[in-house]
Amino acid sequence: MILPGATLGVLGGGQLGSMFTAAACTLGYHVTVLDPDPHSPAARFADKHLCARYDDRDALEELGKTCAAVTIEFENVSAQSLEWLATRCIVRPAARAVAIAQDRITEKTFLQQQGFPVAPFIVVGDAQALHLPDFPFPAILKRSRLGYDGKGQVVVRNRQDALAAFNGFNREPCVLEQRLSLQQEISVILARGADAAIACFPVVENQHASGILDISIAPARIGAALARQAVAMAEKLAHSLEYCGVLAVEFFVLEGDKLIINEIAPRPHNSGHYTLDACVTSQFEQQVRALCGLPLGKTRLLSPAVMVNLLGDLWAQGEPRWEELLQHPQTKLHLYGKREPRAGRKMGHFTCLDESVERALAAALETKARLLERNGISLPTQAGASF
Ligand code: ADP
Ligand code: MG
Repeated sequence: MILPGATLGVLGGGQLGSMFTAAACTLGYHVTVLDPDPHSPAARFADKHLCARYDDRDALEELGKTCAAVTIEFENVSAQSLEWLATRCIVRPAARAVAIAQDRITEKTFLQQQGFPVAPFIVVGDAQALHLPDFPFPAILKRSRLGYDGKGQVVVRNRQDALAAFNGFNREPCVLEQRLSLQQEISVILARGADAAIACFPVVENQHASGILDISIAPARIGAALARQAVAMAEKLAHSLEYCGVLAVEFFVLEGDKLIINEIAPRPHNSGHYTLDACVTSQFEQQVRALCGLPLGKTRLLSPAVMVNLLGDLWAQGEPRWEELLQHPQTKLHLYGKREPRAGRKMGHFTCLDESVERALAAALETKARLLERNGISLPTQAGASF
């Protein structure tokens, strides 16, 4: 066990790295953050900020020398850097799991080989691959690497569209995936310790707007059997990856409660932010526990909760007027300390707690509508649309 007082490292100092750092500091660890951004949000809490690229040899050397263990805030760090670091200190999750999750082709291929249900897809390595005669369009062409928040993907109606989109992505490797009719989206976030013990958070329901997570509802409004099935699948997947750390599994629910795995993230996930205010242990404390080999914390939900993302669009007229939100005694505001509020950029979130999920959702939607209105942003046409 790595005990409080030790130094931990994290690759990536955005909001996820920042919340990991805060959780680690609360438990009495020291934290060093590696992030090329001089204004990295995690630097607000960290003992040390190494402002360098993720593959900078000197910075990695320093992490290896000074940290008892290192983790990641996002999957797009080079697996080779993680492998190299692992020769010097504990690295969790391991490079192999990160390499699988950072590339949609390896991810989907792995899931399929392990027998997990995924959307029908083909690997598009070159234009030739798009000559399949009977692909079930409409579809989504997704770049294999570096996509997030719906970026790097395009809906395509036929083979010509797909070819144009592939050219638009400079013919970089992609997957072409059937566009499915979704009944719901849910996710399962769990932690698996070095001893293979698993602690799973309650299944959460997710609503997206323009490809970006907008609202997460916990517990998900699904039947107990479906929740059990999603948890069982996520646990099986964590074991098959011999995973150590926090793992998020995104699912699509199709008609008839059929489950499909959409993608996985080898780290805490935006849809798990509700755990900060509503669970016995948050996903970030759990990340610290799994990294340090501590027993995993209980994941019990203490209150129904609904989380709403705050995107940079809300800053269109300057710093939002937070008075409105802060006067709600069951609403928790989290701002990430990012300097530039660009449109679509995740700047913070808030979570409404209440005695029922319906009440928490109503409070969240009302608070969101008020925030938009007070900050001079025209109301979205559909309920639950993004800021
Ligand atoms: P990202 O890495 O940006 O999260 P995802 O593959 O999870 O990329 O896609 C983002 C969102 O787009 C999903 O949460 C879902 O709402 C929608 N989406 C993605 N793939 C499909 C699909 N095959 N069918 C229907 N909707 C999809
Ligand atoms: Mg996703």
